[in-house]
Amino acid sequence: MGLLAGACLGGGTTVNWAGAFRTPDYILDEWAAEHAAPQFTSAAFQASLDAVAAALSVNTSYPRHNGQNQALREGSARLGQATSLIARNEKYLTSSAAHFEGLGYSSLGDAHGIKQGTLNTYLLTAFEHGARILPNTKVERVTTAAGHATGAEATHTPPGGRPLRIVVRARCVVVAGGAVQTPALLLRSGLRHPHLGQHLHLHPTVIVAARYPQAMRSWHGPSMSIVNDTYARLHGTNYGVKLETPPTHPGLLAMVLPWLGGRQHRELMSAAAHLGSFIVLTRDRDGGRVCLDPHGAPLIDYTLSAFDRANMLAGVHAAADIHVAAGAEAVYLPHGSLPTLRARAGVPQNPEILAHLPHLGWRANQFGLYSAHQMSTCRLGGHAATHPLRPTGETVEVRGLYVADGSAFPACSGVNPMLTIMALAHYTAQQLTSSLGR
Ligand SMILES: Cc1cc2nc3c(=O)[nH]c(=O)nc-3n(C[C@H](O)[C@H](O)[C@H](O)COP(=O)(O)OP(=O)(O)OC[C@H]3O[C@@H](n4cnc5c(N)ncnc54)[C@H](O)[C@@H]3O)c2cc1C
Repeated sequence: MGLLAGACLGGGTTVNWAGAFRTPDYILDEWAAEHAAPQFTSAAFQASLDAVAAALSVNTSYPRHNGQNQALREGSARLGQATSLIARNEKYLTSSAAHFEGLGYSSLGDAHGIKQGTLNTYLLTAFEHGARILPNTKVERVTTAAGHATGAEATHTPPGGRPLRIVVRARCVVVAGGAVQTPALLLRSGLRHPHLGQHLHLHPTVIVAARYPQAMRSWHGPSMSIVNDTYARLHGTNYGVKLETPPTHPGLLAMVLPWLGGRQHRELMSAAAHLGSFIVLTRDRDGGRVCLDPHGAPLIDYTLSAFDRANMLAGVHAAADIHVAAGAEAVYLPHGSLPTLRARAGVPQNPEILAHLPHLGWRANQFGLYSAHQMSTCRLGGHAATHPLRPTGETVEVRGLYVADGSAFPACSGVNPMLTIMALAHYTAQQLTSSLGR
């Protein structure tokens, strides 16, 4: 499992693909009902979603799509499936070729300053209001006294300089290290809630690439601008897959394409300009966990369950069908043995390969699995015995210690999580303000 996360100022929002999804109502209903957290169905939570969407300039006004998003839209339409435009947090976009091309690379560095992540929104505002920001700093532990947070200890390494020990004293501490690092930090700080680090959800994702007769140049343009939600709630459950697209600059493409050997890999990569890729993003019901290794670093344990794998493979089948309907001539199925579906004029030539898919070996390392969404390791809810966070975002164990990141989700969001994380942080900030007032 390859995990992608942003270890930089602004975290994932600095490097992500700018798809800005509101939390679906069925997820909010599920969280409220199953985790005794009624705030998720409140007007106040919707107001938090509105507030962060406005701060990030979320919009659907950019009209252009790249080849693979066009293929997702057209192939789905030919199969009678609906797609939607993905709202994106970008502004100052013009119709120039430079902007269109640059968008495809913005996860590697936003050359035109158009992505509205936390770096140039909330962090900038905080800085302008006197917040002090220490990059290149690793928080080792949160300090506590008599069951109350008192600050944090960290190591700051200035560029080219020697590491400095930092001690921060505070009335209240908010942790937002992401769902892998936050539980590790809390465990290093002595918290011992039995569910801390459990329930790691990853939205396990595979890539279904296809070769088209025409050039796609999918490394240009908005990386994800079209989504197909036909398979998001399979068999009447809240679990299933979203079909979206990734940026496909050659580095990422080389990482995710199946590998049989040097010659085969070279052939695939030589056709890169003609490849279009969809991602199958699975809402995982069965999670993994994060614990500490002997050095205090996070250790991740995650195995894709049979239930989640079945949903994922249904999504792979669906993605292959859409590629074929969109005119692809070969679809590379995401397995180490590189099963390839051939197609001509929208008709699959060897459909049995899709039927055989579930019978291939799907153990770890027999196929490439990825996640850019880490969630729920410090979940919030109304049951103190099973949820390390109170509904306010404060830890059950330590007063004045809050968590405001993806680890606080009661379960996975089922959609790309940026807006939900930020809305939850916004909501938690209101709780914090009133408790500080007290
Ligand atoms: C490549 C990529 C593409 C994505 N695309 C999308 C998308 O299009 N739409 C979407 O909704 N979501 C997307 N995501 C997911 C989304 O960006 C993340 O889920 C989200 O940013 C996670 O927020 P977070 O606050 O939980 O943690 P993070 O964003 O991971 O922030 C944690 C921060 O804490 C820092 N940190 C951790 N531990 C410590 C420590 N001990 N001391 C000091 N600092 C520490 C990290 O360096 C990081 O800066 C994408 C993610 C990636 C990686």
